[in-house]
Amino acid sequence: MIWDKAESYSRGEMISYQNYNLKNTIERIYHKVPYYKGKMDRIGVKPVHIQTIEDLKELPFTVKDDLRKNYPFGLFTVDKEALIRLHASSGTTGKPTVVGYTRKDLELWANLIARLVSMAGGSSKDVAQISFGYGLFTGAFGLHYGLEKVGALVVPASSGNTEKQIMLMKDFGTTILVSTPSYALHMAEVAKQMGINPKTDLSLKLGLFGGEGSTEAMREEIQKSWGILATENYGMSELIGPGVSGECKYLCGMHISEDHFIPEIIDPDTEEVLPEGEEGELVITTITKEALPLIRYRTKDITRLNYEPCKCGRTTVRMSKIQGRTDDMLVIKGVNIFPSQIEEVLLNLKEIGPHYEIILNKKGFLDFVEIRVELADHSLLDSYSNLEALEKKIKHQLKIILGVDAIIKLVEPKTLERFEGKAKRVVDLRNEGRR
Ligand SMILES: [Zn+2]
Repeated sequence: MIWDKAESYSRGEMISYQNYNLKNTIERIYHKVPYYKGKMDRIGVKPVHIQTIEDLKELPFTVKDDLRKNYPFGLFTVDKEALIRLHASSGTTGKPTVVGYTRKDLELWANLIARLVSMAGGSSKDVAQISFGYGLFTGAFGLHYGLEKVGALVVPASSGNTEKQIMLMKDFGTTILVSTPSYALHMAEVAKQMGINPKTDLSLKLGLFGGEGSTEAMREEIQKSWGILATENYGMSELIGPGVSGECKYLCGMHISEDHFIPEIIDPDTEEVLPEGEEGELVITTITKEALPLIRYRTKDITRLNYEPCKCGRTTVRMSKIQGRTDDMLVIKGVNIFPSQIEEVLLNLKEIGPHYEIILNKKGFLDFVEIRVELADHSLLDSYSNLEALEKKIKHQLKIILGVDAIIKLVEPKTLERFEGKAKRVVDLRNEGRR
């Protein structure tokens, strides 16, 4: 079901809607946010210069640091009294980035989530278990209100206490799981340990996954272990939270709600806008948000756009799975590698499970990468020669695809750390003085 008619606007309708809302947004921020006015004045751009989306490229970018500099409320276009909710990003160092919502913003957010729930096949008949941590993080609350909007029965389970989650799933007849992809994998494992077959003993049919990127191989792994349709959605707290884009049942890219978020793809180094279809950094301009509109926000996420209309009937542009983030790209012996590329190689080997850890270290001045990979089951452990052959095979495939030599350590099943939220799979020890 298509939730909102804007999802199937003709290109012409979409562009005129975008032009109108972009002009309004620029007018508003210029007059309400001194920081933006200053930035625009410095390069001589006035609101009158921005008439259509073609003029977007005249505007300066906004980066996460702009939000930090204006902590907590400096970029808001409304007074604090007009806000009814605050969220903040996890901010591992220093101050978090704070985002605020007016009543209209929360209404918009719920509708955006209702779109992605509907496009994945969720409805008022569903029981949706939200296994994201509730709190300042936008994931749980975002999905919560959107699922209620659709009329689903929402179970705000939050993250952690996995055995209880499985029990609730069974007792309440949960049909939709909301979590990170890595937590979904962990939950399936725990269910099996409890003697519950995730495919036959539970009613789950759909996963709405987000909060971290995942590869196609990871999706297959989740679909296989749960027997469900695993969809992915995308967003970030600065932009609104989850709800910027999501996948329909055809799993061919995430439909961006373009009537609210205008996407551009830029070369992260030159900052030039790239032609349609090319891979680069996603930049988003929000054109309907009230409290905290962001102009040309650099997401650091690497993706590409596809404007072909989709089989599902939606005409909104689709973004491909996030290839990686400009700031989590690994440079190993001068070769640029995204952890997702390593994951793709590993998860396509049936002998190994979906859990792995990438450790970067230095020997003298030389980088080396060690990958700890969990075996899928104990059967291989009986034969040293089989283990050796598997190790060689992984090494060889990584070398062919990524062009680097890696040290492979095969470890027993269920020995690597599991995650209830975003997985931390890369450990970089290169700057810690260890040898
Ligand atoms: Zn579609």
